[in-house]
Amino acid sequence: MRWLFPGAIWREKTVEKRVFLTFDDGPVPGITPWVIQQLKEAGAKATFFCIGDNVRKYQGVFENLKTEGFEIGCHGFSHRAGHKIGLKNYLKDIDRGLVYCGPTQWFRPPHGIIFPWWITAISKKGINVVLWDVLSCDYDRSLMSREVTANVLRNIRPGSIIVFHDSLKAWPNLKEALPEVLKWIKLNGYTTELLTSINQNKRKL
Ligand SMILES: [Zn+2]
Repeated sequence: MRWLFPGAIWREKTVEKRVFLTFDDGPVPGITPWVIQQLKEAGAKATFFCIGDNVRKYQGVFENLKTEGFEIGCHGFSHRAGHKIGLKNYLKDIDRGLVYCGPTQWFRPPHGIIFPWWITAISKKGINVVLWDVLSCDYDRSLMSREVTANVLRNIRPGSIIVFHDSLKAWPNLKEALPEVLKWIKLNGYTTELLTSINQNKRKL
């Protein structure tokens, strides 16, 4: 599928043991602060793709993310899927999201759905569309947390962009899987990095 998405970032093409942790759908009280604590204890860096409407509601949690040095990306304002609202409204929703999450150069499409030809329109705003190569599926309540952990550990490799969710839906799996993944990262000599450190020339398109 990747050739369909020129301009989107999937992972960094590197042989160095470095990965990019990303968290979508927050900030959410109780859950995002727990994630912050886990990351701090592990000395891990991460990028949070925030929903604008959640930032509006939970300003304090959002400010905390920033003061703790985490990187912020935009995940739209209302988390509506692009194909349901059309390009014009989609771009408007990004702009509204950026009012709360911005300034940022990173955008992740809600529900992971985006039309390749929309990426050009989004790029004109000076933001990059960030997808992933490792999806934890932590939001899938039919999965056991160890399956979520396995989803990550089976697919992780140098340069991976990994997706978790700091959301109520993902919480039962996240609270078990994240500590396991952080442990694995450390044991296997990987570092965690912010998206801003992606070498632009090494982007895997
Ligand atoms: Zn989302």
